[in-house]
Amino acid sequence: MSEDDPLERLSGAVPGPRTAEHIPALRAYESQNVTHLADDFPVFWESARGATVVDVDGNRYLDLTAAFGVANVGHANPRVTAAVADQAERLMHGMGDVHPTAVRARLLERLAQILPPGLKKTFLATTGSEAVEAALKTATLATGRSRFASYRGAYHGLSLGALTVCGIDKFREPFAPALGQRALLLDYPGSDETADGAIARTRAELTGHTDVAALLIEPIQGRAGCIVPPPGYLSAVRALCDDLGILMIVDEIYTGFGRTGTWFAVDREGVLPDIICIGKAMGSGFPISAAVGRAEVMDAWPLSNGEALHTSTYLGNPMGCAAALATIGELARRHLPARAAALEPFLRSRLNALTSRRVVVGVRGRGLLWGVQLANPGVAAATVKRALRAGLILLQSGAAGDVIAITPPLVITERQLARAVEILEAAIDAIE
Ligand code: PMP
Repeated sequence: MSEDDPLERLSGAVPGPRTAEHIPALRAYESQNVTHLADDFPVFWESARGATVVDVDGNRYLDLTAAFGVANVGHANPRVTAAVADQAERLMHGMGDVHPTAVRARLLERLAQILPPGLKKTFLATTGSEAVEAALKTATLATGRSRFASYRGAYHGLSLGALTVCGIDKFREPFAPALGQRALLLDYPGSDETADGAIARTRAELTGHTDVAALLIEPIQGRAGCIVPPPGYLSAVRALCDDLGILMIVDEIYTGFGRTGTWFAVDREGVLPDIICIGKAMGSGFPISAAVGRAEVMDAWPLSNGEALHTSTYLGNPMGCAAALATIGELARRHLPARAAALEPFLRSRLNALTSRRVVVGVRGRGLLWGVQLANPGVAAATVKRALRAGLILLQSGAAGDVIAITPPLVITERQLARAVEILEAAIDAIE
C-alpha cells in the first residue's frame, strides 16, 4: 500500500475504547441537541489527510463525505495548512471593516476571477448561513421588498434569517411563529420533469407576488437528498427572474469549488446570478464564506462612512483569506473541477448498479455530488453504521433521512474511490 494512497485500516473495535472515554464529557457538557450518541455511533475524529480520516483509536477510514463537502482539496492539504500556519504566525486576526489586510484584497480579486463574469463585489463572512443572510439583506436593500421565494427541500443554513427560506419542515416547525410569512415556498423540479414544464409551474407560483425581492435556489438541492433539476431549468429561472424583476440568488455553498465538475454549478449552463453564496470548501475547513454580487446590486449598500451597516468581528479574517487563496490555488493547479467531472462516469455506473438492490430506491447526482436513496431512514442509518464498522465514513442525508450523500474529496484516488464504493455495496448487501 502506498503512503499517498492509503485505504481503510481498522486496528480494533469501531467505535473503540478511546471514543467511549470521551462520550461522558460530551453527554454532560454539550447541548443535547447537537450529537446523537449511541453505542455503535459516532467515532471521535483525531486527524485526517487527503481522503482518509483517523479516529482516536487509530482506526483509519476512507471518507466519502469530505466532512460535509468541505475538504474538496483533501483533508489537511499541505499547501493549505502551510498557508494557514504562515498566516497564523504573522496575523491571526485583523479589524474587519476598519483596518483591512493585503491577503483580503488578494482574495477578493481572485474570487472575481474564478466566479461567473460580473460577480465581483463581495461580503466576506464566516459560515454559509451568514453568507445567505448577507445576500437576503442585499436583496431587500436593492429592491425595497421584503419577501423571498425559495424551494421546498431547500437548505440555506439554520440562523434565523436563513431558516426563513429553509424548505425542510423539521427545521422550520419548532420556530414557525418566528419565521412568519417571509418565504414563498416553490416546488423544486425533479429530473423526470422537463425544464419547460417546471418553469411554467414556477412562473405560476410566483405570479401575483409583487412583494418578492429575490428567488433563492440551490443548483442541485444537497441536503434534500441531491435533487438534480432538469437541464435548462436554471437558465429558465434566470430568464423568469429578469421577466418578473426579481433578483436571482444562487446558493453554491455545497455545489461550489469544483464539486459538480465545474468551478461552480451555474457554469454548466452559463447562468449569471445576481448574487452567489459560497462557503464550505472555500477555506478547506477554516470557516470562511461569502456573498458575491453584481456591482449594480451590491451598490445598493451605502458607501461606508466609517461604520458599516453589515459586518462582523471576523469579516475577512486573515487566516480564512489565506486558506481560501491556497484552496483556490490547489483547485486550479490540480484541475480538480475537471477531476470531479472525470470521476463522474465511474461513480455514476457503480452507483446505478446499486439500484438492482431491493432497498435502493434511486441514485442521482453530478460530478462528485451524489445521493443514494434508500427504502427508508432506518435502512440509511443502518448502512452508515455498517459502513463505519467496515472502515468507510458516509453521511445520512435527505429531507426524510433516507438518502446517503456521497461527496468525497476531489483528490480521492481511483483506487480509494473503488474501494469505498465496494464497502458501500457490501454494507447495502448485508442489510438487504
Ligand atoms: N447552503 C447550503 C446549500 C448548504 O449545504 C449549507 C450547509 N449544509 C448551508 C447553506 C449553511 O452553511 P453553514 O452550515 O456553514 O451555515
